[in-house]
Amino acid sequence: MKKFVIGVDLGGTFIKAGIVDETGNIIIEDSIPTEAEKGPSHVIEQISKIVNKLNENFENGEIIGVGIGAPGQVDLQGGVKYPPNFPGWTVVYLAKEVEKITGLKTTVDNDANVAAIGEAKFGAGQKHPNFIMVTLGTGIGGGIIINRKIYRGPTGGAGEIGHVSINFDGPKCNCGNYGCVEAYVGQRYLSSWVAEELKINPNSKIVEIVNGDLSKIEPYIISLAAEQGDEFAINVWKKVGFYVGVMLASVMNLFDINVAIVGGGVAKAGKILFDSMNETVKSRALKPIAEKAIVIPAQLGNKAGILGAGALVFEEIS
Ligand SMILES: [Zn+2]
Repeated sequence: MKKFVIGVDLGGTFIKAGIVDETGNIIIEDSIPTEAEKGPSHVIEQISKIVNKLNENFENGEIIGVGIGAPGQVDLQGGVKYPPNFPGWTVVYLAKEVEKITGLKTTVDNDANVAAIGEAKFGAGQKHPNFIMVTLGTGIGGGIIINRKIYRGPTGGAGEIGHVSINFDGPKCNCGNYGCVEAYVGQRYLSSWVAEELKINPNSKIVEIVNGDLSKIEPYIISLAAEQGDEFAINVWKKVGFYVGVMLASVMNLFDINVAIVGGGVAKAGKILFDSMNETVKSRALKPIAEKAIVIPAQLGNKAGILGAGALVFEEIS
């Protein structure tokens, strides 16, 4: 009998879930508001509700488990710690709680690891047994895949590449360190230094697109301007590629891995960004790694959350 799993993408606003088969097809999907402000037990109920609904209406095979990708840190016991924008959370053992209500075996990991596992099983990582996954969004998520398995470290905290410092004297990061790559290319930081530099580059198309309101700058607006040939915007993506590339060169050296897969909203900037990341790792990583180094786009796009969470279950049982 064909095996299926339910992948759950826990977001701050919506919980998205879908039934996934072993080859990475989403058979059916659904979503429900997270209502995180109502606290952890309500979120557990919402997840269980959507899982039960999908499970009860499915007649094409057996659901063998549930995978959840959660924001924040997740320890090896499945404790989800202090996810941002989830008031009232300390440590919540999400998988155990959902399992109690649904009766389905449940696994949880942080969304950056889940993205890596998803690309490894169903996406751009299928051809690459070892790679560094980078998710460029509000924060910079990371996942390390070694021999097709995620590397979690002794407590589950491995892969925090967003907090690799690329400048000891750099801007202060949320984490308390200075010059973390996230403090340059995390969405808010990025928008803020771009706004600052636009004050001395007022002729950029970006200013025109936001009608002079620099607080409205978002990555897709910079991309829009770059597509129209705006020199300043093109240089922003070159710089972002350089910053990420500098970090990747160190991480590639550290793990002896020469493939990086990059996804997330900011990665939609496309060719200019990827050319810049590739040039940087090739010129900065140690020679044996640099010779074969490639930085390629993720393939799962906005399905990464559900597919990755599904892949997490298949990984557990393999
Ligand atoms: Zn940091």
